[in-house]
Amino acid sequence: MHVRYSYLSEQFKNCDDLFEKIKKFVPTGDFTLGKPLEEFEKKFARLIGTKYAVGVNSGTDAIKLSLKALNISRGDEIITAANTFVATVGAICEIGAKPVFVDCDDTFCIDTKLIEKKITKKTKAIVPVHFTGYMTNMVALKKIAKKYKLPIIEDACQSIVGAYNNKLAGTWGVTGTFSLHPLKNLNIWSDGGIITTSNKKIFEKLKLLRNHGLIDRDNVKILGYNSRLDTIQAIVGNWLIPKTNQIANQRIKNAKYYDNALSKIDEITIPPRIKNNKIVYHLYIVFAKKRDKLLKYCLSKGIEAKIHYPIPIYRQRALSKLKHRIGDFPVTDRHAKSIISFPCDQHLKKNQMDYVIKTVKNFYEKK
Ligand SMILES: *Cc1c(COP(=O)(O)O)cnc(C)c1O
Repeated sequence: MHVRYSYLSEQFKNCDDLFEKIKKFVPTGDFTLGKPLEEFEKKFARLIGTKYAVGVNSGTDAIKLSLKALNISRGDEIITAANTFVATVGAICEIGAKPVFVDCDDTFCIDTKLIEKKITKKTKAIVPVHFTGYMTNMVALKKIAKKYKLPIIEDACQSIVGAYNNKLAGTWGVTGTFSLHPLKNLNIWSDGGIITTSNKKIFEKLKLLRNHGLIDRDNVKILGYNSRLDTIQAIVGNWLIPKTNQIANQRIKNAKYYDNALSKIDEITIPPRIKNNKIVYHLYIVFAKKRDKLLKYCLSKGIEAKIHYPIPIYRQRALSKLKHRIGDFPVTDRHAKSIISFPCDQHLKKNQMDYVIKTVKNFYEKK
C-alpha cells in the first residue's frame, strides 16, 4: 500500500464551482487588492475572532510585516523557539533583528519556564510558534509578556483554529501570523499568508506595509513592501475557508485513532495531549525508539513518513554566526533524534492509518 504525504490532488478534485468563480472574476480585472481579497480578509477575521485580517504574500511576510509594524529593527532581540521552521527565523533576521532561541517542551512549543532568563534590555518581542498545531501555553506567556511589557507575535502558521482555553491561535498576540502555503491546513494554489489583529493602529500600518506604504496612488507615507495576497488566490481561500473547521476536526479524529493504537506499542511515546489545548495536527508526530530504522522501514513499505526536523534550525549553517552548539537546546536535540511524522490529513483513509499502525507494529516485532 502507498500512504502518500501530500493530499493536494484530493483536496481540489471537485472544484468546478471554484473554476466558475475564477472565470467570472477574470474579466473584472480587479487583480490587486480586489474584492475577493477584502471578502477573504473579513471571513478570516471572523473565523479566528479578531477585528481585522490583512492578506500578505506568505506566512514569512506575515511575521516580517508584524515585526516591522512594531518598529523592530537592527540590533533588537526577538525571543522564539529553537525548533521552529526556518521561516520564523528568516523573518526575524531579514529585518536585522537577532533571534534568541528558547528550548521547547514535549508539546513542541516554547517552554515558557525558560523564557525569563533570556530577556535582556534589547529584547523587543516574543514570537511563540504554535508548532505542529499544538498551542504554546499562552496564559503563562502572556504573564511574562505583561511583566516585561513585551509584545507577542504569534507564529500560528501551523495552528489555524487551534486553541488554548478555547481562545484561538492568532487572538492572543498583537498579531497572529498564518500561512496559506499549499502544505498548510488552509491551503491555496500558491504562496500566501494572512495576519490577524484587533489593534486598529497595527492594522492600518500593516495595510501600508504590504502595499509600498502607499496611502493612495500618489502618496507614500512609509517605506513598505510589495506583499499583497494575490486576489485570485483569495478566491481559492474563500472557496476553502468554510471547510476549515471540518479539516481540523478530521485531523483531530485521525490523530485520536493513531494515538489509541500507537500508544499500545512500548517503543512509541505519544506526546502529552493536554486537555485545554486544541491541537489541530498540522503535523502528527510521535516519539519512536530506533527512529532512523523505523523511518527507513516505513519508507520501504510505501509510507511517506517524515522528520520535522532532523537538523534543528539553531544548528543550521546559515545561523553559525550565533555560535550555538549541540546541547544548547537539549529537548530540541532529543526531539530531532526521536520524532517521526505520519500522514494525518483530512483525506487519509482508515485503511491507510491501519496500514501505518500495522507497519510500525511489525517493525518492532520483527527483531
Ligand atoms: C510554513 C511556516 C511559516 C512560513 O510560511 P510561508 O507561507 O511558507 O512563508 C512560518 N512558520 C512556520 C512555523 C511554518 O510552518
